[in-house]
Amino acid sequence: MQVKENFEIKPLTTYKIGGVVKKVYFPETLEEFTEVLRELDNYIVLGSCSDVLFSSNGYSGNLVVTTEMKNFEIRGTKVIAECGVKDPLISQKVAEVSLSGLEFLIGLPGTIGGAVYMNAGAHGQCIADTLVSCCLFDRETKEVVYMQNSEMDFSYRHSLLHNGRYILLSAEFELKKASQEDIKELMDRNLTFRKTIQPSLAKPNAGSVFKNPENDSAGRLLDKAGVKSFETPTVKVWDKHANFIINKGGATSEDILEMMVKMYEAVKQTYTIELRPEIIFIGDKTKKEEELCNILYRTKTQK
Ligand SMILES: Cc1cc2nc3c(=O)[nH]c(=O)nc-3n(C[C@H](O)[C@H](O)[C@H](O)COP(=O)(O)OP(=O)(O)OC[C@H]3O[C@@H](n4cnc5c(N)ncnc54)[C@H](O)[C@@H]3O)c2cc1C
Repeated sequence: MQVKENFEIKPLTTYKIGGVVKKVYFPETLEEFTEVLRELDNYIVLGSCSDVLFSSNGYSGNLVVTTEMKNFEIRGTKVIAECGVKDPLISQKVAEVSLSGLEFLIGLPGTIGGAVYMNAGAHGQCIADTLVSCCLFDRETKEVVYMQNSEMDFSYRHSLLHNGRYILLSAEFELKKASQEDIKELMDRNLTFRKTIQPSLAKPNAGSVFKNPENDSAGRLLDKAGVKSFETPTVKVWDKHANFIINKGGATSEDILEMMVKMYEAVKQTYTIELRPEIIFIGDKTKKEEELCNILYRTKTQK
C-alpha cells in the first residue's frame, strides 16, 4: 500500500483545487483498508473526489483514498463491488452481460463508495433502487458489519453513511436482465443529455453545486435568479446549466465558496428558498471560509 506524506491533493480532485494533506493512504485490498481504519483514530475516506470541494489550505489529518480497491464480481443478476470501483466502469461491465439498473452511473466520475454515500442518482435511477446490502466498517466498534437496504436510511442524496459512523467496504446490487440494445440506448441517451448541458471534466467542476429543494430544481431556481452571468477572474457559473461552477484556472476553495454564497443569496432573495449544497467541503478552513461555510452548510461540513 502506498502511503504519502505532505501530499498535494489538487490533481486528484475533479475541481483541481486542494492543498497539502498531512498523510494519505491508498489501500489496495479490503484487508489493507480495514487494517488502516482500525489503526487510525482520525481520518476522512474519499473516493474520486468528484463531489467535494477540498480546502486550498489542505488538511492536517489523515486521508484514506479508496480508488486502488477495484475488485468486483458478477454472479448471475447479482453484482458485488468494492468501494473504490469507478461508477462508469461498473455501469459498462454489467451492461456487457445484459444487466440493467446501473445505466445512470455511466456519466458519474465517482466511485461506488461516494455513490452509496450520496445515494447518487440521475435520469430517474438511483443507488437505493438496486442496492441489496452493504458491507461496512463500524468506526465505533472497529468491526465489519452488514446492513440491508432498509437499514441504510436512503433518501434524496442521503444515506446512513452521512452520520459518520460507517465506512462502505463493498456493496451488493441486484439487477435485472434486459436486452443489450435497450441498455446501450439508455446509456447513450444519458451521455448525450450530459454532453448538451453539463461541462466536461476538461472544465474542472464537481457536478451539481446545490441539492434540489423539494418538488423543484436548483438549476431552474438559480437560472431564474440570474446567476448564469456570475463570473470572477477564477470561477464562473456554467452558461448551459446554472447549478455548476467551473474552475477557470487557479481558483481556490475560498473563490468557490464565495461564488456559492452569491448564488445562495440570489435564490434566497428572489424566492425565499435557502438552497443547501450537494458539494461537501473537506479540510482545514480559514476564518473567512468558516464564515462562508456557516452560511451555506450550517452544521453540514465534514472535517
Ligand atoms: C461532471 C459531474 C457530474 C456529476 N453528476 C452527478 C449526477 O448526475 N448524480 C449524482 O448523484 N452525482 C453526480 N456527480 C457527483 C459525484 O460524481 C457522485 O456523487 C459520485 O458518486 C461521488 O463519488 P466520489 O468517489 O467522487 O466521492 P468523493 O467525492 O470522493 O466523496 C464524496 C463523499 O462520500 C464519502 N465517501 C466516499 N467513499 C466512501 C466510503 N467508501 N465510505 C464512506 N463514505 C465514503 C466521502 O467521505 C465524501 O463525504 C457528478 C460529478 C461531476 C464532477
